[in-house]
Amino acid sequence: MDRQIIRRYLSKANVNARSDHEIDNFGTIIKCYKLASKIAKFLRSKGFDAKEIFTNFNYRNFDIKGILIPFPDISLKYLAASSGVGSFGWSGVIGLKNFGTAFLLGGLTTSAELQPTKPIPDEENFCDKCKICVNVCAFRMFDKNEEIQVNLGDKTFSYSKRNDVLRCEIVCGGYSGLDKTKEWSTWSPARYEFPKNEKETINTLSKAFRFKPNFLVDGEDGGFKTKTYLKDPDVNQFMIENPKVWRLIKSLKLSCGNCQLVCRGNHKETLENYNMLKNSGVVVRQKNGKTKILRPDKIHKADNLHIPQKKTFKEIIAGILIKRALTQKKNS
Ligand code: SF4
Ligand code: SF4
Repeated sequence: MDRQIIRRYLSKANVNARSDHEIDNFGTIIKCYKLASKIAKFLRSKGFDAKEIFTNFNYRNFDIKGILIPFPDISLKYLAASSGVGSFGWSGVIGLKNFGTAFLLGGLTTSAELQPTKPIPDEENFCDKCKICVNVCAFRMFDKNEEIQVNLGDKTFSYSKRNDVLRCEIVCGGYSGLDKTKEWSTWSPARYEFPKNEKETINTLSKAFRFKPNFLVDGEDGGFKTKTYLKDPDVNQFMIENPKVWRLIKSLKLSCGNCQLVCRGNHKETLENYNMLKNSGVVVRQKNGKTKILRPDKIHKADNLHIPQKKTFKEIIAGILIKRALTQKKNS
C-alpha cells in the first residue's frame, strides 16, 4: 500500500485522508486478486487445477460465529511466514525489514507441484519488539508480554497473544474509536468506554450496533467506490461467485488498521508514524450530526459524546447470543 497515503491517514492530515487510504487499500486487495487470477488462469491453461484466493473479508462461515471470530478459507499470513515471503511481527502481521507491514498478500491454490521455499531465519526478522503496534490499538487487542505459538510444517512461529479478538471487531468494525488514553481516536466518531475484561467486551459489542457509524467527515468525498470495478471481468466474476463478500466490501468503511499501518520495519520511522497518530486528534460527531476532526488543542468533553449508558432489552438478548456463539465456537 502507498506509505505516503498511510502517513496522511494516520495523522488525519485532511478530510480526505481516510478516503484516499480506503481507495488505495481496497484497490490493492483487488490488484492482489487479479494477479492471483492471472496466475491461476495460466496454470489451468497448462492442465493443472488452480483457484485464486480473495485477500480479505472472505470467511469460512458467514453466520454469527464466522463473523465474530473470522477464519479465512486459507490463512495467507501462515503461507507467507512458512514460505519466507515475510515474517510475523509482534502483532502477528507479516512484515519485511525496512518496509514493515503495510502490504497485502495474495495467493492461490493449485495442483501443480511447486518447489517449496524456506521461512526467513529468525535473526533476519524485521520485528524489534518495540510493541508500538500494541499501543496503536485503541482497545488493546494484543498482549504486551505474552506470546502464542503456531506450528507450521516443522517450524514453530510466535507472536503476541490476542487479549480478545472482539476488541478488534468493535474498533476495526468502526463501533468505537477513542483510544484507551483518550488522547487520540481512529477515524470512527463512535464511543464506548475501554472494556476491562471479557464480560465488558461482550457488553460493549452487544451495545455497539446501536451506533450507526457514519465515518464520512464533513467535506469528505466518499472513499472506495465499488462501481469503478463493475466493468472489470475478473472482479465481476468474483462478485457473481461471492455476493456476500462483495456486499460486505460495499458497506465497509475503513477507520482503523493501525496495527498494520504503523510499522515501517525500521524503528525510527515506526516511531514517527506512532507520533503522527498520537498527535492526530480525534474524530467526533457533533450535536448537529456533522463529523469533524478535532486537533489535540481542541479536544474537550466532545470526545466522549455518544457513550450509551444503559442497555436496552434487545441489547441484553444480543449479549446472550454473542456469548453463546463464542462458547460454541471455542468448543468446536
Ligand atoms: S510495531 Fe512492528 S517492529 Fe514494533 S513490535 Fe510491532 S510488529 Fe514489531
Ligand atoms: S485493526 Fe485496529 S482494532 Fe484491529 S487489532 Fe489492529 S489496531 Fe486493533
